[in-house]
Amino acid sequence: MQNQLFINGRFVDAAEGDTIDVLNPHDGSLITKVAAATSTDVDLAVAAAERAFPRWSAMAAADRGRLLLRLADAIDANAESLAQLESLDTGHPIRDSRALDVPRTAACFRYFGGMADKLQGSVIPVETGFLNYVQRAPIGVVGQIVPWNFPLMFTSWKMGPALAAGNTVVLKPSEITPLSTLRIAELMAEVGFPEGVVNIVPGYGHTAGQRLAEHPRVRKIAFTGSTATGRRIVEASQGNLKRVQLELGGKGANIVFDDAKLDAAINGAAWAIFHNQGQACIAGSRLVLHERIADEFLDRFIALADSIRIGNPLDATTEMGPLTSLQHLERVKAYVDVAREQGGHVMAGGAAPSDPSLAKGYYVRPTIVEARTPQDRIAQEEVFGPFVTVLRFDSDEEALQIANSTSYGLGSGLWTRDLSRAHRTAAAMEAGMCWINCYKRVNPGSPFGGVGQSGYGREMGYEAMHDYTEARSVWVNVDGNVPPHFRR
Ligand code: NAD
Repeated sequence: MQNQLFINGRFVDAAEGDTIDVLNPHDGSLITKVAAATSTDVDLAVAAAERAFPRWSAMAAADRGRLLLRLADAIDANAESLAQLESLDTGHPIRDSRALDVPRTAACFRYFGGMADKLQGSVIPVETGFLNYVQRAPIGVVGQIVPWNFPLMFTSWKMGPALAAGNTVVLKPSEITPLSTLRIAELMAEVGFPEGVVNIVPGYGHTAGQRLAEHPRVRKIAFTGSTATGRRIVEASQGNLKRVQLELGGKGANIVFDDAKLDAAINGAAWAIFHNQGQACIAGSRLVLHERIADEFLDRFIALADSIRIGNPLDATTEMGPLTSLQHLERVKAYVDVAREQGGHVMAGGAAPSDPSLAKGYYVRPTIVEARTPQDRIAQEEVFGPFVTVLRFDSDEEALQIANSTSYGLGSGLWTRDLSRAHRTAAAMEAGMCWINCYKRVNPGSPFGGVGQSGYGREMGYEAMHDYTEARSVWVNVDGNVPPHFRR
């Protein structure tokens, strides 16, 4: 298991010798200690990335792509050990790490490997006698900061487009879950990425993260995490006016109309909130139900939630694992108190499972709470756990009003058999993504990101490649004419 920083193609200890304890969320035991980068290490990593940039950006795009394709193959070849590592570190059920996290990581690197030589510039139809072409040029050294909820997948979402476009990277994983990212660094070295192109600096946010965000030689900072930290990133970026891309929090509305196919909607709503213990920015954390079907829906939804198998993430039968950290468990449990204080009705969960073999872990049962009003804190604030807030509506207008009543705008969903209603509502949802009769689908070709307090910029697809390049406009005087202005 790799536990050092990865700088300039080598694994090294942190300059100041600091380490971070990485804990197993299943029982709180120590998995390993990982080197903790501070400013000195971030500076070394940025310098390495800066040295690597001229050669990497000048390399044929197809050759950069080939390295990303080789990395995707290496991930496939090491799929089982990567899945085990991700589940150990994060608490993701192993069935999800195997079926989703690892294949999606490989698919994302593969998509951008294929994309590397397909991003084209353009020729602009300007005045006769002149040629104007626009190149998509890499930005330079890019800083990337990721959270703990999907560490493996997010390395590919962040690094795939950045590298394909010709940038070099310094990435800071979350201090809570650095292990799978360091394994990816090992695989990158094995498949032949040149030294310095990718540098991984696990460390705390207020030290390593802050330095990366304010670093004068970093040209862009791409951040995924909470909205509060996102604001700090924007402030830190101001010194050199670096570009900023923000993927922040969410409070996804999942609307079930009275004509929905209930079986699919109940199952989909459970997936929307309970997958990865609800630790997903796009989680369907507000369940917005039509009055006419609400009672039947809730009876069946509660029965389904109560039947979810909670257990050791490394057990193949586990459907829900622990939350990723103790601190986060406390935060989620505090929202159960907030709900009760504000008159919310706790219909399921709200406490740890009774199984004594899980007593040391960061477990909480699937929790379903009906809010009094859409303005209650549990209907407005991101809980980021297996905690769904139920709200009821009478008309399509009211459903939309509730859906659009938070400051967030990331994932959203709706369930109906009425095509017109589906498209009309999807168009009016203030959210970067909307799923109709499904939830939480992602694909490396489809742009991912939010509006409002959920951030700006897009990951994946052409949009991500654009976000990692500058448009450079070149003008050519084709006829060689002397400009008329000062002609003598
Ligand atoms: P967080 O904001 O606490 O931390 C995210 C990362 O930022 C970590 O690597 C952390 O070390 C670093 N960081 C913390 N303070 C920093 C600072 N001052 N300067 C620079 N870096 C700093 O978030 P978290 O608790 O790790 O993750 C949960 C949050 O992430 C939730 O709000 C969730 O919605 C959001 N999220 C968003 C998306 C998305 O794509 N929109 C995806 C996943 C998670």
